[in-house]
Amino acid sequence: MSKETLEFQAETKRLLDLVINSIYTNKEIFLRELISNASDAIDKLHFESLTNQDILEGNSDYEIFILPDADSKTITISDNGIGMTREEVISNIGTIAKSGTKAFLEQLKDSGESNEELIGQFGVGFYSAFIVADKVTLITRKAGQQSAVKWESDGTGEFTIEESEKESRGTTITLHLKKEFTEGEDNFTDTRDIERLIKKYSDYIRYPIKMNFEVTDKDNKDNKTIEVRTVNSMQPLWTKNKSDIKQEEYNEFFKQQFHEWEEPLEIYHTKAEGTIEYTALLCIPKKASVDLYYSNYEPGLQLYSRHVFIMDKCKDFLPDYMRFMKGLVDSPDLPLNISREILQQSREVKKIGKALEKNILKQLTKLLQNDRPKYEQFWHEYGKSFKIGIYNDIYNRSVADDLKDLLIFKTSSEGKFSTLSEYVTRMKPDQDKIYYAAAKDTATIEKLPQMELLKDRGIEVVYLLDPVDEFTFEALHEYDGKHFQSISREDFKLDDEQSKAEQKQVEDLTKDNETILKDVKETLKDKVSDVKLTSQLKSGAVCLVTGAHGPSLSMEKTFEAMNNPFFKASKILEINPNHPLFGKLKEAHGTDNFASFCDLMYCQALLIEGILPDNHVELANKIADLMTK
Ligand code: ADP
Repeated sequence: MSKETLEFQAETKRLLDLVINSIYTNKEIFLRELISNASDAIDKLHFESLTNQDILEGNSDYEIFILPDADSKTITISDNGIGMTREEVISNIGTIAKSGTKAFLEQLKDSGESNEELIGQFGVGFYSAFIVADKVTLITRKAGQQSAVKWESDGTGEFTIEESEKESRGTTITLHLKKEFTEGEDNFTDTRDIERLIKKYSDYIRYPIKMNFEVTDKDNKDNKTIEVRTVNSMQPLWTKNKSDIKQEEYNEFFKQQFHEWEEPLEIYHTKAEGTIEYTALLCIPKKASVDLYYSNYEPGLQLYSRHVFIMDKCKDFLPDYMRFMKGLVDSPDLPLNISREILQQSREVKKIGKALEKNILKQLTKLLQNDRPKYEQFWHEYGKSFKIGIYNDIYNRSVADDLKDLLIFKTSSEGKFSTLSEYVTRMKPDQDKIYYAAAKDTATIEKLPQMELLKDRGIEVVYLLDPVDEFTFEALHEYDGKHFQSISREDFKLDDEQSKAEQKQVEDLTKDNETILKDVKETLKDKVSDVKLTSQLKSGAVCLVTGAHGPSLSMEKTFEAMNNPFFKASKILEINPNHPLFGKLKEAHGTDNFASFCDLMYCQALLIEGILPDNHVELANKIADLMTK
């Protein structure tokens, strides 16, 4: 087939542009990324060879070869892994499959964070080659196939692709280095420098990373020969003793092995012996992957048996709410050629998984107790995952039992995060419910008219600021025997003597004003399901609450955002009988102004909730009318 010039997908172009134009402090990471890809490609080949020996074409000496070359100002990274077909090259290298890309690029546009940090969360992989190269040539031959493909690009808008020849299977990537990377401090054509980088970043790669070294004959200095040497130690880090491993080594390992940009937030290295033997090396990445909550995000741990790689992304160890965990499990109790189906049924995997889950929860509990700022950092990235986990297990509730003490929320009294148990210890002696309010931010909650009464009585309110929070509370139902009570639902009532007296007074007033309340309701028609007087407001005139069951107002907003407009909250308009506005309403009753008056009261209540009324232009006109009267 003749040479073709194709364009990068628009999102890839944008990403490449960012990579090329970002000022990287760590130019050298391209080597780690490309070696990682090479190692992954060998893993894939090895995995396939377990069921199809022919694919190896008689050569199972896996290796990665790095060739810096000062003359041609290039560095070449070769592997004898699985290789790629023409279609695979186009789809793997020309487009970005990750579903979070769009969101990620949006975030880049309007974020104050440095691009480098954000790119780190996303992982640029192969594209990091363009940090140091102004042209990249890739030649690859898929294992088991005859023809090879050559791909070439300068990273701007297009790439070319053509048929090529390649003697052995695998991929060879040649970076034509930018001038500044062929001399001086960052010279990537220098054998010794590259050797140092491989030792630093890729020492634990399980396959030999080989390079050519020039050796001078001891007896005859003019006699120089080339010797091929393996640069990396290849000893898997997790097989070493914990006490012999430096923090720095762990950090580098996770960056190399799991394409992490920053050092992990937490690292757990456990070895177990007994009925079942395994080693696990796990981490909580510092930043959540941008596509963590997208459906095609693939969670899972790497699986090894006696240090030999079996498979990637094994989902059967950890529950879905721990989908953010990265790491590996190495166990001699698992057979080498295990399939995903067998794995799912495996009792060993279930046992190891349960033990890992328990251990992670134990470590997180310790973190919560001993290092609150770090736990809050964890929560900021992954709290959502736990909360969704509780909701998804609503009927079984075992996740809720495991996680309820790890939840933290902002509350009205502290202005900082609190656990539910801490909230309970601060509850008033006669308080039997955990009060909460949900909105998009603290300021909106604090301005809710109902908050005034609670503040007045010194009752603390839990702030639910993430749309998923209310769903989680619904699923939890109660904590320590104390039910959750929304302050924006119809059944919200305080139980102290003063409140009871005030409620009684409002009941009497309700009887006296039955007709007017009925007329307000009739005027507002299906906008509200009821209109009531309330004792829960102090200086506020009106508020909107929802029925005791069914979606709340903020749940309704969440459903709308998910294009699901059918779940509507039943809205109840509550009026403060002690507010002068109620007097005015009574005066307007029976006049031409009454309908407008009712509508304005309802719109006020909507605005307090941060909801723009449908008829906002009409509303503005009514206000103008009223002001001129
Ligand atoms: P990632 O490795 O995170 O998936 P990359 O941009 O680094 O992202 O690579 C994209 C894809 O290209 C890889 O998932 C893999 O399928 C393919 N690829 C990259 N390098 C190689 C290689 N050396 N051999 C075979 N396939 C490769």
